[in-house]
Amino acid sequence: MPIYRYKCPICDNEQDEYRSVAKRDIFPRCNAETTPEDLGEEPSDMDWVCGHTMERIVAAPMVIADMQPYRSMITGEMITSRSRHNEHLREHNCIEIGNETHHLKAKEKPELSKETRAARKQKIIEQVNAIK
Ligand SMILES: [Zn+2]
Repeated sequence: MPIYRYKCPICDNEQDEYRSVAKRDIFPRCNAETTPEDLGEEPSDMDWVCGHTMERIVAAPMVIADMQPYRSMITGEMITSRSRHNEHLREHNCIEIGNETHHLKAKEKPELSKETRAARKQKIIEQVNAIK
């Protein structure tokens, strides 16, 4: 679901709402705290919430810019998009330097025989009992 930006026409408060496209024009109430004087009401020591119906405003969506085109050092072809870049790396078994993840893989535990595990367990039991 996209995030829409709404603005209060009374107090200029802006807030973001996360909602479906179908519900984007169901306008939220302004939740800005205000004073009665701001709304032209009699002074009071209570804080008020503006509560006015907000209007949807057009805000630029956040997008990640695609990469600059470059010529492949492997094939000489022009790589013009991020998706083609990733595909090209996979095709030629390459990785981007700085994005390696092989070092993050969990180390494989050595396979121990049932006898070795039992012997270790027995040794631990003996050491714990020796503490008493
Ligand atoms: Zn408001």
